[in-house]
Amino acid sequence: MKKRPSFPVSLDFSGKRPAAQRAVAASLPAQGVGLDSSAVRLNMVRKLSKQGISDPLVLAAMQSIERHRFVDSALVNQAYEDTSLPIGLGQTISKPSVVARMAELLRQGVSGRLGRVLEIGTGCGYQAALLSLLASEVYSIERLRGLHDRARENLRPLHLANLHLLFGDGMLGYAKGAPYAAIIAAAGGEAVPQAWVDQLAVGGRLVAPVLTGAAAGKQALLVIDKNEQGVRQTVLEGVHFVPLKSGVA
Ligand code: SAH
Repeated sequence: MKKRPSFPVSLDFSGKRPAAQRAVAASLPAQGVGLDSSAVRLNMVRKLSKQGISDPLVLAAMQSIERHRFVDSALVNQAYEDTSLPIGLGQTISKPSVVARMAELLRQGVSGRLGRVLEIGTGCGYQAALLSLLASEVYSIERLRGLHDRARENLRPLHLANLHLLFGDGMLGYAKGAPYAAIIAAAGGEAVPQAWVDQLAVGGRLVAPVLTGAAAGKQALLVIDKNEQGVRQTVLEGVHFVPLKSGVA
């Protein structure tokens, strides 16, 4: 039996919070959005824990980052439900359980923080913010200028110094930051681009949605582990992500 973290112990940063987390806590005053967002988030985190998310760093990051700041004001009251939400330009922010699951997969077997991480599909910037609490350095690429700009706005008050937003085609990865300890994609294509595998460090892990070919539009989570001998691929549960597209717009 895997040990479940008990609350609030798993949310206790034990006075050793990374600078980024302290910055988040300090820069975000409780906001009058009609909900006590900390308590609502704790409720969300408890549900994630019940669903099997057990990584204390992931749960702490989910507690820390205010998802309601990343969605349209009309959707604020749905921000902590386990649902994907529109973020404009036909794109969506993934539901919290999927974000947490992918983050946990990325960190599996790693003690402490991840090294450099590449995220493909910044979207509104929510997952990028979470990743910045789980990794030493995060590079996040978005192909839509409008969302790249919006993410920048959303993230500005958080002062996450280790998070770098890039505008470009993430299908090419970002060679300048390579090799990456982890690569995570928030959009699904037919296959994982070779550039991502090339830019993954030996010992690194990639998590991405891919089309399974089983039926039109059916996607599953793919995990790729890279070691000295090559790569090992594991196909996990079905998911539903926006399509991975090439070029910028
Ligand atoms: N992690 C995001 C989810 C955004 S949805 C969040 O927390 O909001 C996925 C995003 O991937 C979309 O914004 C889409 O424009 C982007 N995307 C799709 N193909 C891409 C590519 N080749 N390079 C970079 N971003 C891409």
